[in-house]
Amino acid sequence: ASDAAEHDLVIIGGGVAGYVAAIKAGQEGLKTACIEKRGTLGGTCLNVGCIPSKSLLNNSHLYHQILHDTKKRGIEVGDVKLNLAQMLKAKDQSVEGLTKGVEFLLKKNGVDYIKGAGSFVDANTVKVDLLDGGEQTVRGKNILIATGSEATPFPGLNIDEKRIITSTGALAMEEVPKKMIVIGGGIIGLEMASVWSRLGAEVTVVEFLGQIGGPGMDAEIAKQAQKILAKQGIKFKTGTKVTKGDDSGALVSLSVESAKGGKEETLDADVVLVAIGRRPYTEGLGLENIGIDKDDRGRLVIDQEYRTKVPHIRVVGDVTFGPMLAHKAEEEAVAAIEYIKKGHGHVNYAAIPSVMYTHPEVAWVGQNEAEIKASGVKYNVGTFPFSANSRAKTNLDTEGVVKFIADAETDRILGVHIIGPGAGEMIAEATLAVEYGASSEDVARTCHAHPTLSEAFKEAAMATYSKPIHF
Ligand code: FAD
Ligand code: NAD
Repeated sequence: ASDAAEHDLVIIGGGVAGYVAAIKAGQEGLKTACIEKRGTLGGTCLNVGCIPSKSLLNNSHLYHQILHDTKKRGIEVGDVKLNLAQMLKAKDQSVEGLTKGVEFLLKKNGVDYIKGAGSFVDANTVKVDLLDGGEQTVRGKNILIATGSEATPFPGLNIDEKRIITSTGALAMEEVPKKMIVIGGGIIGLEMASVWSRLGAEVTVVEFLGQIGGPGMDAEIAKQAQKILAKQGIKFKTGTKVTKGDDSGALVSLSVESAKGGKEETLDADVVLVAIGRRPYTEGLGLENIGIDKDDRGRLVIDQEYRTKVPHIRVVGDVTFGPMLAHKAEEEAVAAIEYIKKGHGHVNYAAIPSVMYTHPEVAWVGQNEAEIKASGVKYNVGTFPFSANSRAKTNLDTEGVVKFIADAETDRILGVHIIGPGAGEMIAEATLAVEYGASSEDVARTCHAHPTLSEAFKEAAMATYSKPIHF
């Protein structure tokens, strides 16, 4: 169209991938437009993902701790009450502050933020159905697709976000359900199970595989996590698949059977959370107009420079390959802009941390033990329990362990797996070690402050190439 504004870069999607790319592009002097249809920036992560879930996890943990974990600390509390409306409000305020902050950053970096749904007209032209009505056309020398992902539905269960919910509904329930079933014991399932069980729901997690935690979590750590979460009151049915659901009655009923076949039973609940994974989202994007390929899981196919087969159209974040994580999306966004501007960028896919924000937290980076074993590499394992760490002991928070896996020949760290207090912060050190190609001895010979939880990290490294002092 003749009235179309010409940009160096048009970004479709204002999630973590899209907005970070927009800011970086603005910094690099590219004339940039960012199209987002949600009405707010930040995508899944800021609006209905990372941020609101961590708000509820933090505050439900505090509530649970005040109820169950104060007496032995010498704190006598009176009448403790849950004000769920206020807890949800606190969450909404965090989300609002952050999404507005992102909008400010886009403005500050000279990005045109266009509110509406974008779809390809041709390989350089995107038509936007504006949220305020009407249409706008933008043209880009480069286009970046960052349209993210959506919850994978469960066949036969109709999501209404009230009784049959995805994570989005689980972040906004106005009442604590009496009975809740979670289908899928991955990260979303376990984080949301933690929130609602702490607030008083009777929660059962049904997981198809023999272990919880989703892809990547080390089996030994997953086993400990399950034991600890079970002690907190969450019920688990692992090795169990849901075969069908029925939402016609007063309660939702699910038929489940052993994953190996056989024994069938029926489970009832007030609310069923479907958390069986997420899938790339490209609805209404008009991909058919430009002929970009998807793989068998709906992911947009790209090369190492994030290019589709139309080289000036690039893709980053959840809608393409790799783990569906906000920080992975951010790294890719920066790298993609660097490829456009300078011809080179950098993401080390071997050093992307994962964190599950339960209590205790679970975090890891690199390969797990089963993966290393399967690769045939000879390795050493070193572990150190938080029960032997002075700070964990003084904090009366001693559940968990740090586990290092290093190459037996070179001592290079291949993976670090942590379950324990503050694991999500501690994994940053492990990630740096992996990124720098450190050995377990490098970490062990680095001075760590006393008394800190990070000494457990150092001692696990000591245990890998030699012996720990305190265990
Ligand atoms: P998204 O965040 O999904 O953003 C894509 C955006 O594009 C959306 O806002 C969408 O409206 C917009 N869009 C799509 N199509 C169009 C179109 N045609 N026109 C205009 N706009 C369009 N990751 C972590 O790393 N840590 C966590 O703690 C964490 N917690 C999570 C908790 C939950 C409950 C969920 C669901 C996810 C969580 N994630 C977490 C994953 C994280 O949210 C995603 O990896 C991240 O949001 C991916 O960013 P993205 O920009 O690729 O996609
Ligand atoms: P997931 O892939 O992590 O876990 C899904 C689980 O459901 C798996 O364990 C799988 O075996 C199980 N499952 C699949 N079909 C099933 C069935 N029919 N019956 C029973 N179990 C079944 O997916 P998720 O937990 O939905 O999370 C989606 C994405 O969002 C992930 O990529 C995750 O990394 C990301 N996320 C990250 C965080 C975080 O970083 N803290 C938090 C939430 C979500």
